[in-house]
Amino acid sequence: MAITPEALFKYFTSLLEQPKIKEMIQRVKRKFHPVFSIVPTCGKWYGGMCYGAAKIEISSWVLKDAKVARGVVRHELAHAIQDHLDIEGRSHGKEFIQILKTIAPRRWRKDRYWENTPAIKKARVKIYPAKGKVMKPLVDFSEFKVYFT
Ligand SMILES: [Zn+2]
Repeated sequence: MAITPEALFKYFTSLLEQPKIKEMIQRVKRKFHPVFSIVPTCGKWYGGMCYGAAKIEISSWVLKDAKVARGVVRHELAHAIQDHLDIEGRSHGKEFIQILKTIAPRRWRKDRYWENTPAIKKARVKIYPAKGKVMKPLVDFSEFKVYFT
């Protein structure tokens, strides 16, 4: 089942209200209010992207599967919180996993990656065609010729 951008944003804000997550965010005095955007795509292999604690972007194609989309939101939120708390470590290192475990105690293993479900595959192939297939150009200027005189 798909999820609307509004419903996904509502889910994101509901996470911020969860006591354990709230407590984690409030360990530092800084404000935490990342911009939350749905973009056409964050890249072929990126269900989401996090820019420090300032911005979270979600690839539109993950919204085709609500479960996957919520997982991507939890994953990106973990990145944003790691940056917010100024915790060093590799981007998916043990510090990140620790935060992800607080956000998703039961689903953190799954939340490390987004699942390429049939609905998502179908949406992605429109943006990233299968190997060997070439997308038709949006605008084709092949008729254009330059004459030198
Ligand atoms: Zn990540």
